[in-house]
Amino acid sequence: MYQKLSLYINGQFLSGEGRKSEEVINPATLEVLGHLPHATEADLEMALQSAQTAFTSWKKSSPMDRSAILRKVGQLTRDRAQEIARNMTQDQGKPLAEALGELISCSDHCDWHAEECRRIYGRVILPRSPDVRQFVLREPIGVCVAFTPWNFPYNQAIRKICAAIGAGCTIVLKGPEDSPSAVMAIAQMFHDAGLPPGVLNIVWGEPAKVSDYLIRSPISRKVSFTGSVPVGKQLAALAGAHMKRVTMELGGHSPVLVFDDADVERAATMLAKFKIRNAGQVCVSPTRFYVQKKAYDKFLAKFIDVLKNIKVGNGLDEGVEMGPLAHARRVPAISRFVEDARQRGATVVMGGDPIEGKGFFFPPTVITGLKDDAMLMCEEPFGPIAPVVPFDDIDEVLRRANSLPFGLSSYVFTNSLQTATKVSNGLEAGMVNINHFGSALPETPFGGIKDSGIGSEGGAETFDGYLVTKFVTHI
Ligand code: NAD
Repeated sequence: MYQKLSLYINGQFLSGEGRKSEEVINPATLEVLGHLPHATEADLEMALQSAQTAFTSWKKSSPMDRSAILRKVGQLTRDRAQEIARNMTQDQGKPLAEALGELISCSDHCDWHAEECRRIYGRVILPRSPDVRQFVLREPIGVCVAFTPWNFPYNQAIRKICAAIGAGCTIVLKGPEDSPSAVMAIAQMFHDAGLPPGVLNIVWGEPAKVSDYLIRSPISRKVSFTGSVPVGKQLAALAGAHMKRVTMELGGHSPVLVFDDADVERAATMLAKFKIRNAGQVCVSPTRFYVQKKAYDKFLAKFIDVLKNIKVGNGLDEGVEMGPLAHARRVPAISRFVEDARQRGATVVMGGDPIEGKGFFFPPTVITGLKDDAMLMCEEPFGPIAPVVPFDDIDEVLRRANSLPFGLSSYVFTNSLQTATKVSNGLEAGMVNINHFGSALPETPFGGIKDSGIGSEGGAETFDGYLVTKFVTHI
């Protein structure tokens, strides 16, 4: 049984009643899983109004009460993980084990926010006169509107929801129409955990229409978006025109730097497996592989060897390590990168063409012989496709790694402390992973710089985007 789909507004699950709806498709089988109702303008207005009404009391709620609800949702996530993961695999495509992993890590996100929301501190500033008291208070910003993508449907939504609710804000969230079951499950869990009506509202629809309505409304005070750079820039511009705070978690084009002195086979094995995670549809996926000249052949051979043995298929099937691309639009999008590479005379070492038959399957693909101005080296691929190119020295590779407008994640393999220090100082990225992959834990900040975004989610920073600063002085 697939998840029942509806809107969730003011504590009510709403569907039907003449609303437009869209089909939700399984990307592995093309089966229609369900019908997702679109919010009308009246629904969007009702969601905003109910969030505004709920804010008047939620902002005064005890952090202990907020914490208890977040903790309860963390526990429900663990309890319901099997069912939610199955639905997520069906509408998003990722292998069941990955979907389960996402849920378990998300229960940790709930716990982290449950703990941290009890530690939102202000401060006392020493006065110039002994009769004066000066305080800095941090208060919830108000009604938040959020837009989350289809690649980690549970993770992306729960991080924004926990941060908003934990800070004392209320939220209207538009989830991903391609893969909606996880966000529906979240709504059900907060409902079951006793969240007051209106604190969390879930809507669906045409993304541009919904975001335009919610951001322009005088009710919303903060905009949070995870998705592509072009859409993020549009939404940030609209938010700016209405003087609204933004958190933007946007795309990247994460460079990988493998130095001669690294454990090259270990690096190639780890990177190959990391590359095909969620079929490469990960904003922090490694996407530009720079390998130092002496290590190049050994790296490439091992990298290909691991990728050739990856089992691609329906994520519900036993042993499958990589599922289909999440929706139909992704197949031509990935093919364009291969086409551009072929036209430039690069070598498609493996993969390169969609897998024939049912479903949006694309094989792991490796391309060599690319110049730095090739499309695959400059635009975020968001798929299971990897360009591998050689480099000579550290200054050159840092210059090439930093040459794009993105700055999300980066990966370095070296056994030299000196090199590790120099690259961690020199890389223009929000996250630098050296000799392992350690980003995206609840207790660590996650976010990009340059075109990759504004603000962080997770870590002690997680509530910053949801709080305003108020200075109080009295005598
Ligand atoms: P897309 O740009 O059409 O959509 C990306 C996401 O933004 C989707 O969830 C979509 O619903 C949403 N969106 C699009 N227009 C919007 C609008 N005007 N208002 C609010 N939300 C809007 O592309 P796509 O084919 O669905 O995804 C491919 C691209 O999206 C990738 O190349 C990648 O850069 C980006 N993406 C990034 C992340 C991430 O975690 N940063 C996640 C998913 C997709």
